[in-house]
Amino acid sequence: MNWNLLTCAFRDHVSYAPDEPAVAARLSTTTAAGPAWQCLRCGTFVPGPPVAAGPAATAPPVRRDGELRSALILRIFAVERFLRGVIFGVIAFGIWRFKYSRSSIEQAFDREYPEFRDLLHGLGYNINSSGGLVGLIRHTFTLDQRTLTWLAIGAAAYTVLEFVEAIALWLLKRWGEYFAMVATSAGIPYEIYELADKVTVLRAVAFAINVALVVYLVVSKRLFGARGGKRAYDARLRSESIMQAAIAAARGTPATGADPAKAGADPAKAGADPAKAGADPAKAGADPAKADADPAKAGEAPGAGQAIPRRK
Ligand SMILES: [Zn+2]
Repeated sequence: MNWNLLTCAFRDHVSYAPDEPAVAARLSTTTAAGPAWQCLRCGTFVPGPPVAAGPAATAPPVRRDGELRSALILRIFAVERFLRGVIFGVIAFGIWRFKYSRSSIEQAFDREYPEFRDLLHGLGYNINSSGGLVGLIRHTFTLDQRTLTWLAIGAAAYTVLEFVEAIALWLLKRWGEYFAMVATSAGIPYEIYELADKVTVLRAVAFAINVALVVYLVVSKRLFGARGGKRAYDARLRSESIMQAAIAAARGTPATGADPAKAGADPAKAGADPAKAGADPAKAGADPAKADADPAKAGEAPGAGQAIPRRK
């Protein structure tokens, strides 16, 4: 599946006119319909003005290929975390709201919050079943009120944790990936303990999802130095960047030597030489990592080749 084209079918193309003429020449061409700018995601030359402009080094990072698939997967996990948060929020509220009640939770929900009960039923929870966490909570209604208060606080805290995880994963930031990975890992020993006690479908599925998330984050996002860590991860991102390829190519040739027609004829090629763009910073004349980390600085550096920095 071509994730670049698929994404561009649902969202607008991402074109960017760099201030540096040599780089701009590689990302633009002239068509019968007038000037066209290359989409930094799918590589298509789109007639019309660019979406944005500015120094090449400050071009927005564009997710491509595997990164797009990865973003989708992480957001599915984010939704799953959000639903967990909602369920535990309901549980926390239930304990707090009904901790004085002598009737069963089922009756209380029937009476006051039938829609919550239906939601829980729809998600596979049977409020009055004796197994699982809800059963545990039901059991706790025979406990004293101080214990109930602590249980409500615990469930509320877990709700907050799941919501933060959901937000962290949804934002697709590296800190969020670490946060979700650590928070999820922390719960795994307890889940194993629960499974050892009794295997239920719900427990097994919840456990499998958590393990899958942790493994996926560590392997795919190269957390904690896995598979080369952040350095390798960033290098791969740069290698897939059309803008980075254009910058590297522009540095390797005189500004006047750029042939827009040629660049336009083979957009695939413009993005196709990742190894060169990412792997040989010395040859490119500057450190791509540095350029990424501090675009403003890179723009001012005298060693930036033909780049002509201009402030927006
Ligand atoms: Zn596009």
